[in-house]
Amino acid sequence: QQDVRPSLQTEGLSKAFGGVQAVNGATVTFHEGKVNALIGPNGSGKSTFFNIVTGMIAPDSGTVRFRGQDITRRAPHRICAAGIGRSFQLCRTFPRMTVLENLLVAVRPSGLGQLVGSSRNRRQVERARELLRRVGIDHLEGSLAQDISYGQQKLLELAGVLMGEPDTILLDEPAGGVNPALIGRIGTLVKELNAEGRTFIIVEHNMDMVMSLSDHIVVFDRGAPIAEGTPSEVQQDPRVLEAYLGV
Ligand code: ADP
Ligand code: MG
Repeated sequence: QQDVRPSLQTEGLSKAFGGVQAVNGATVTFHEGKVNALIGPNGSGKSTFFNIVTGMIAPDSGTVRFRGQDITRRAPHRICAAGIGRSFQLCRTFPRMTVLENLLVAVRPSGLGQLVGSSRNRRQVERARELLRRVGIDHLEGSLAQDISYGQQKLLELAGVLMGEPDTILLDEPAGGVNPALIGRIGTLVKELNAEGRTFIIVEHNMDMVMSLSDHIVVFDRGAPIAEGTPSEVQQDPRVLEAYLGV
């Protein structure tokens, strides 16, 4: 592979829950400036992997590096400050807050106090509105998050991730439970944001989306990579067919 700059890298990463080895010695490199995908059967450890690299859970062993820097076991807010943003498999929004308020509390984990007025907050409101326009739900800014569709909530969550101005974005099943029209919009946004220089690492089951968006794909099975490469390389890999289809 020519000219690969490492983004997120793990070495020998492992995590067990009781008797379940969720992540099993995973050594993986994702590529800076690219759209990377992490795919694999249900239960193969993808979300756990995201939880470890974003500091939500500690690994039993192994290391996580981001652009060459060791970030293993750092607290989530410090990993966020290093430039990594993420979304969740089951969308995380505040149901009883408005769409706009959801973005204002997304700025920082302790962001509630920032709802009180100041010029800095006015700038954040402007930025939140700009991002709502960008993801196409600005007409919903006054709606409660619980009253918008699930796909719109996913777009809201993505806008929330962008509020932190991450240059590397991890998305856990962005198209899961989302209607086809909004899946198309999410795909377009990923392409645009990547063209602006952001790196993506996307866990997704929608293979049309994965194959059309990704530059580099890592395939997990039972907590570790079994294959990686371009979409066409991965699609032809017998190990991938076996893990997915049992052939
Ligand atoms: P994926 O996202 O690829 O579907 P997960 O990382 O969610 O896989 O899960 C990997 C394995 O670890 C599964 O067997 C799952 O049941 C188990 N697991 C994940 N999180 C926990 C947890 N908090 N407690 C116990 N088992 C867990
Ligand atoms: Mg998952």
